[in-house]
Amino acid sequence: MNYTDNRFICVPITETNAESFLSAILEASQLADIVELRLDYLSTQDRSSVIARLPALTVNTACKDLLLTFRPREQGGQQDLSLEDRQDFWRNLPPEVIAATRFVDFEFDLVESWNGISPVPWEKVICSWHNFEETPNDLPARYDRMATTPAAIVKIATMANRITDCLKTFELIHYAKDKKPVIALAMSLAGVSTRILSLASGAMLTFGSLRKGAESAAGQITASDLRNLYRIKQLNSDSEILGIIGYPVGHSRSPLMHNTVLSLHGLNAAYLPFEVQDAGEFITDFVRPQTKKFAWNFRGLSVTIPHKLAVIPYLDSVDTTAKAIGAVNTIVINGGKLSGFNTDIVGAMKPLEELVELRDARVAVLGAGGSARAICYGLNQRGANTTIFARDMTKATPLAEEFEVKLHLLESFTGDFDIVINCTPIGMRHHSEGESPLKTEALKNTTLVYDLIYTPNTTALLCNAEKAGCQTLGGMSMLIGQATEQLRLWMGLDASFETMRKGLETK
Ligand code: NAP
Repeated sequence: MNYTDNRFICVPITETNAESFLSAILEASQLADIVELRLDYLSTQDRSSVIARLPALTVNTACKDLLLTFRPREQGGQQDLSLEDRQDFWRNLPPEVIAATRFVDFEFDLVESWNGISPVPWEKVICSWHNFEETPNDLPARYDRMATTPAAIVKIATMANRITDCLKTFELIHYAKDKKPVIALAMSLAGVSTRILSLASGAMLTFGSLRKGAESAAGQITASDLRNLYRIKQLNSDSEILGIIGYPVGHSRSPLMHNTVLSLHGLNAAYLPFEVQDAGEFITDFVRPQTKKFAWNFRGLSVTIPHKLAVIPYLDSVDTTAKAIGAVNTIVINGGKLSGFNTDIVGAMKPLEELVELRDARVAVLGAGGSARAICYGLNQRGANTTIFARDMTKATPLAEEFEVKLHLLESFTGDFDIVINCTPIGMRHHSEGESPLKTEALKNTTLVYDLIYTPNTTALLCNAEKAGCQTLGGMSMLIGQATEQLRLWMGLDASFETMRKGLETK
């Protein structure tokens, strides 16, 4: 069987009662090419009820092709199932159900146990093996052992403990080219790139969950995101790869913003989240054209915590602004060279400058961390008169000295400023939502309050500012501003604020 022209998104059904399981199959059919029925999620009674209704479901509805799986716990299933339990299950499956099924998943030990005589035709059989501890180095040898069985397809899913484990998965897919079709995935957040790029690499199928919370394995992303956000069925080996490196990176909204713009412009490119522990190792093994171990065509990267400083030694050049604030948030890969930039400053300043004149403006910066540093640099360049307010004078003094600005304790804030910029996390969701670093009375003489926090959109500080009659600006404008500048640097794209905002609102 040749599947090279067929690349499938498969949605596993993980409901635990018969009715919701059956309705999830139909819901999944709208997103999936293949629907995997994880029959081990059901009790014996619910499983019998689902199986009895499968032939009618496949004939009378818009149900997509089915893959049946009955997984034992040690291979990632929900039940303790001996080899005999599984053999009995498959032997007793009614012929009309087998006929209505496109694929079945047999674990490697089960495949071997049939001694060539399977109750399901071999052309429907996926021979699977999972390792939930690690991604071992011998995947090609394991593939060869599995491929010598009569099963039509080989599936190998392993745990990625760090992003470099994905290289072994991509190498396996490459190894299996022109051999038996392979499904190869690295589980966990570090393995997400294999879920997005395995089809473009030559694998036959990738899994995407029906919704958040319905995953059948660690690191699975939704089928809707695979299809619509990352557009994985359109990607190929020529696709340009962009992404964000950070640790952790799962919360990042950058894929939403950037992929929306890439899709709108119809570009053969995708922006991925890369959970990277060691930025130097990632750049060497994945990105730098002279040393990378896989042929992905990296075009640019966003860099977030904790790598903004750590990436600098691995770049060929760093622009003046990024050098001055000692932080790179953008890498451009062009002509074999890696160049570092910082788009946070222009991203933060542009929306502010559109509202107020910064030259000689009296600006209060609350906080003295990474973003305060970028803001102080941007304000100095624009001739503003800056004062930092921080809770810890010892920590904040080096920043105030470096930029030659005044420094006071946050609790001693006086109201005489044209602009107040919050660079602390006070008021942020999951941190201190509802709290404000300043009360309404303190803002009575202020023209504009800018809060860098973007979740929530309207913070308690911005509410207080509105009550005090100030103009307000939220952190979303900076988030979008720095991303817009990144796309200009990477692809020469002129992305609109509105497109990016809509991308963010799709979630
Ligand atoms: P950071 O480097 O950790 O700095 C945070 C600063 O806030 C530090 O000076 C810290 O003081 C101070 N701080 C923390 N909790 C405080 C409290 N309860 N009272 C008084 N001061 C407090 O963080 P950052 O990267 O600058 O980020 C700060 C905020 O800006 C975050 O909410 C982040 O989401 C937001 N941000 C937004 C964007 C955007 O695109 N919109 C970009 C970057 C950052 P200590 O040093 O004493 O702890």
